[in-house]
Formats: sequence, structure tokens, C-alpha cells
Amino acid sequence: MRLLRQTVFSSRRAFYCTSKQEKSPFERELVAKIKMTGPMSIAQFMQEVLMNPFKGYYTTKEKVLGSSGDFITSPEISQMFGECVAIWIIHEWRKMGSVKPLQLVELGPGHGTLMADILKTVKRLVPDEIPNLSVHMVEASDKMKLVQEARLCGYSGEKGVSKQGPKVDWHTRLSDVPKGFTFFVANEFFDALPVHKFVRDPETKNWQEVLVDIATEDESLKFVRSRQKTLANHYVDSAYDHMEAIEISPKSGIVIETISERIVEHGGAALIADYGNASCSENKVVDSFRAFQDHQLCDPLKNVGQADLTADVDFDYLKSKTSEHAKAFGPVPQSQFLTQLGIVVRCNLLKEANPEHADELQRSLDFLISPQKMGSRFKFFSIFPKTVEFIHPQYTPVGFYEPKSEK
Ligand code: SAH
Repeated sequence: MRLLRQTVFSSRRAFYCTSKQEKSPFERELVAKIKMTGPMSIAQFMQEVLMNPFKGYYTTKEKVLGSSGDFITSPEISQMFGECVAIWIIHEWRKMGSVKPLQLVELGPGHGTLMADILKTVKRLVPDEIPNLSVHMVEASDKMKLVQEARLCGYSGEKGVSKQGPKVDWHTRLSDVPKGFTFFVANEFFDALPVHKFVRDPETKNWQEVLVDIATEDESLKFVRSRQKTLANHYVDSAYDHMEAIEISPKSGIVIETISERIVEHGGAALIADYGNASCSENKVVDSFRAFQDHQLCDPLKNVGQADLTADVDFDYLKSKTSEHAKAFGPVPQSQFLTQLGIVVRCNLLKEANPEHADELQRSLDFLISPQKMGSRFKFFSIFPKTVEFIHPQYTPVGFYEPKSEK
């Protein structure tokens, strides 16, 4: 049994580094494109840099996740994370009457570690339910699909069948996933979706979109403010009236609309974990678009295709895009969610059974739940159809129960 996945921990928060170097072929390609068609939005830039089929970060880079990659995610830190998510699914599914068959859909599954841990836990806790499950992975990168297949099915297994038994299908788009009763999960997926950035013109106070253009001196990439309104200006509404700088991810909004409409129509629930703000109204300035390479912050306009690009998730915005027939819970801090799911008890059991790994287990636990690490910046958010709302006053979704403070 693998207990500890990484010995060197660093989530996507670190120190800033810049590097001066020659332009890569990919950077030259982007410069040529901008010369031909004009400055591009940050959303277009993110889409191109992360997902270009021949040179993109997720489509071509060998090592993305883990201590030898650019950043580490919760499922890669410890199996305990996936075990808690599996228990959440089983628990909430049971409350809805264990509707069968059940589809498990994961968005942006990275190395497939979270789904592998979910299936292992389901097999251990409710083995009789295995024949009722099917798995659907929504992944845009063909390279990542292969990594996930190796993790879930093994090299020598039957194609498209997981080691635990359920069939696994891969889809490039969410719209291709078959309709039916579904539990959706996504960890650090929404932060990879493109954002548009806007800042206020200091004189007119109008919103100006931040674009990527080229510098005349050396043809390097640089940020500029659009002098006219762009199409994306239509996404800015009165919710941002009090703010000075904002980031909006319409793509995230469409994904949330689709997930919540499916849950309303066919039943199920969604569990989303990511870093971000509970409310954009907490800040006047949101400026979180950034790049990571080798666990360090770096210049997003340098090393294109070699560094991950990411932005904080705006949970207020996700909530606003949830169907009116669905109910959202959270966001709650990761520490609250995992603690209510019993991660501390699980860690103690693992330590007793594997005393030689006790220190490592404790370190992973601390990393996942300590407020200085991933415990408070990372949040959990869930969506249920309003048809099951009657259960919730008495049985709040586990992990989202907010204890009343003692007077
Ligand atoms: N969930 C994983 C990995 C997060 S990295 C974990 O927690 O370890 C982001 C993942 O989302 C990668 O697998 C990337 O290829 C995928 N991805 C990014 N943009 C996507 C899109 N638009 N559609 C589908 N998958 C996407």
C-alpha cells in the first residue's frame, strides 16, 4: 500500500522567479499570431498555452504533477484525500436512495489518482455496488488520458475496464458524457479554465480588458489594456460595481450550468474542490492569474507551454451560475470538509497499522488540513437538486455542516 505520495510538498503558492532567455518556437508562434490578428485576451492566451494540441502545457509536457513536476495536488499528497471523497459519495448517494446505475464523472482528472482512490475505497467499503458503477473521465489532453488509463486500468488489464471492475470511458467534452444519475467530482479543474481580466480606466472608470500584445522593442509578449470595449466586456455586470480589478471565467460558468442542469434533470450531485475566494465582494481587487514552474511562481508570459497557468476560482460566480432548481453548499475550507469526513481518525488508523510511516502520514495530514498549507485557501463546494432539499435541514451534506458557535 502506498501511504505517502510525495516527500517534497509545495502546492501552487511559492516564490516568484523570472527567467531571461531566447524565445521558444511556441512563443514565436504566439507572436506571429498576435501580429496577424491583434492582441489576444488572457482567456485565449490560457487556452492556447495550456491546450494547444502540439505545444500546450497539458497536451505535451512530460511531468506536470508531483514533486518532480510543477505543482502538487491533494490526491497526489495522500490517498486519504480520495478516501474522504469516496465516503462523501457513498454517504450522499445512500441518502438519495442509492439510485442505480450510478455514473461517476471526474473533470480534469490529472494523473487519475483521485478516481483510482475513489474506486479502491468503494470496492473496500461497498463491494456489492461495484457492478452498478460506470466511470467517465472528462479530459481535454490526449496525453493525460493515457496517463489516467494506465493508472486506472493498468497496462495489462482489459481496455476501458478499471482494476476494480467498473468500465471507464474518456470524453474530451462534458457534453459528450451520457446522461443519467451522476455524481460529478472535480479537484483543481476550475482554476485551469480560462479567465478574462479587467481593470478600471483610472479616468473614465470604464472597464478595460487586459490583453496580451507584443512589445515593439524586442517583440516580447506584454500585457496591455484594451482601448475599446471587447466582446468579453459583456460579461461584466453590476455585481462588480464596487471593484477595481476583476477576473471572470465564462467557461467555468458554462460548466457549472451544464452540471447543475444535468443533476436537476437526471439526479445526482457535484463536489468541487479548488483554491479561491468564498466571495469576490471580500476584495476590491482580484488579481490572481499566475504561472507555476518547478513549484515556483514565474512570469506567465515567459516559458510559454512549460509553466502552468492558473487563476483563483470565484465561488460566488459559480454559485450564480448554478441552476435555480439546484442548491449549492459551501464553499467551506478544505480542513472543515476533510475533518468532518473523518480524515484525522483515518490517519490515526493508518499510523497504527503502519508505524514505520507514522511521521510521513502525519505530515501529509498536516499539509492537507493545516490553515497555513492547504486547509483554508482550498475550498469545497457542492451542488444538489432541489428535489432532495427536504433531507438537508436534518441531514446537511457531510462536510458542509457548519457547527453553531457555543454562546
Ligand atoms: N484533478 C487532478 C489534476 C488537476 S490539473 C488532481 O487533482 O490531481 C488540471 C487537469 O484538468 C489536467 O488533467 C488537464 O489536462 C485538465 N484540463 C484542463 N483544462 C481542461 C478542459 N478545458 N477540459 C478538460 N480537461 C481539462
